[in-house]
Amino acid sequence: MRPYGVLICFFGTVLIPVMLSLDTAAESFSCDVCIVGGGSGGFGAALAAARAGADVVLVEQESRLGGTSTSAFVSNWEPGPGCSYAEEVYGRLAQEVNAVVVASRVHTYRPEEPYGLCLGDGRFSYADTLQRAGKPAEEQCSVVMRPEALAAVMKAMLDEAGVRVFLETVFHNVTVSRRRIREISCVSKSGGDRRIQAEVFIDATGGAELCRKAGCETLLGEEPRSRFNEPSAPEEATAFLNALSLCYRIVKTDVLEIPPPEVSSDGFSKSAFIYGLNMDELIVNTLDLVAGETLVNNGYEAALALAGKRAAGHWAWLRTYPAFRDYTLKDVAPMLGIRESYRVVTDYILTEQDVRAGLAGQNHPDLVAVADHALDIHGGSQGTKELKGPYGIPYRCLIPRDADNLLVACRGAGFSHIAASSCRLSRTIMALGHAAGQAAAWAAEKDGDVRAVDVSLLVQAMGLPGEKL
Ligand SMILES: Cc1cc2nc3c(=O)[nH]c(=O)nc-3n(C[C@H](O)[C@H](O)[C@H](O)COP(=O)(O)OP(=O)(O)OC[C@H]3O[C@@H](n4cnc5c(N)ncnc54)[C@H](O)[C@@H]3O)c2cc1C
Repeated sequence: MRPYGVLICFFGTVLIPVMLSLDTAAESFSCDVCIVGGGSGGFGAALAAARAGADVVLVEQESRLGGTSTSAFVSNWEPGPGCSYAEEVYGRLAQEVNAVVVASRVHTYRPEEPYGLCLGDGRFSYADTLQRAGKPAEEQCSVVMRPEALAAVMKAMLDEAGVRVFLETVFHNVTVSRRRIREISCVSKSGGDRRIQAEVFIDATGGAELCRKAGCETLLGEEPRSRFNEPSAPEEATAFLNALSLCYRIVKTDVLEIPPPEVSSDGFSKSAFIYGLNMDELIVNTLDLVAGETLVNNGYEAALALAGKRAAGHWAWLRTYPAFRDYTLKDVAPMLGIRESYRVVTDYILTEQDVRAGLAGQNHPDLVAVADHALDIHGGSQGTKELKGPYGIPYRCLIPRDADNLLVACRGAGFSHIAASSCRLSRTIMALGHAAGQAAAWAAEKDGDVRAVDVSLLVQAMGLPGEKL
């Protein structure tokens, strides 16, 4: 039974006792489209749905938007086809001081100095960042942002579009009946429960949390060759997942830092990928810091704790190189860098054959995003395999097979383990979010049925592959 208090109200000279509930009853919200997760995918989805006229709620557990791109400090867009929203974000950041640069590689990995370094390079423009496949490495450019600036621009854009953004709000449960999500339950860090009803839901949690809670089938680890007939797949399934990273930031200092003697440099690969607007402040991506399976076997908190210890060792190792002697540790990313976990079984699963065939060899009527990143596996023996050209990703990769009013727009969408190693990049995921948000807004007008969307209109709205995206 709920605890009640009594409030005495004065109405003229009459005293009226009013019963008040003293516990925090769940606040209830309803909307057309509800998005869980505010990373690259969730941002693209929320912006698209709101701009298409839908009433949108976005739920994010962190205190800022951007997900891996901001909270895990992965504020680097690798070269590759972007999407129109990414270009818009870049344009907004470029108007600010100390927020974004187009960067080129000023130091490449070599055994005696095993790190790559990318810094702002005024010779290049945003357009130079839009291709990887077929371009010599020395001409490839990326976009490097200050994480806090990126998060602020994303928030401003969603606010302007009228999205109701609930930060520090954790999704934890879902009500499903007859293949439809009816309602999700969340708890906000200030303690209140929130329930959200929507016509259409979009899972943008990265690790497909909403789809899993809704009972959708998922994939995890390496699929056996028999599953998708992929040439590079192993004969037998394995539990292997791409390695976890924990990024940290270093800044220039005049004060010599003496690392504590107990810091161990064991247990991780001695390499790094480093980027910054300039040499004053750098972000260090620790690459293969912790085995990816640790996340599933031991849980997020244990994986983060192990990564924290190893990141300290990584910095102790990195600063033995002359280029980093006059730097000090500024901060460690609050979020673990997760490249891979659960992926959803969708109406179509993107495979190695799609990625290698490229646009010319694919025959799908519903391509909504284009990518050209290498097949890029961290932590195993497979390494990086460059592509000859861009390939497309079908809308069906965003439709969970086991639900009707649900889309998935994050790295956990319908990709095989091998295909996911290429199309997990931030701008690709943002483009998929864009397509999902547009489709969800239309589906909301058709009783939430995401398969009732006019695919040719969606493809048109996203632009011809390789052109407007
Ligand atoms: C170490 C590392 C380096 C990388 N390097 C690059 C690179 O250089 N360039 C590049 O383009 N890509 C890179 N990537 C890939 C890219 O950053 C990610 O794949 C992409 O950002 C994933 O976007 P997402 O929207 O799927 O997930 P995320 O960005 O992780 O967003 C998911 C969001 O959902 C939220 N969430 C999860 N569960 C809940 C819940 N229960 N309730 C509420 N919110 C929830 C999370 O807090 C998060 O904000 C890298 C990835 C890693 C890990």
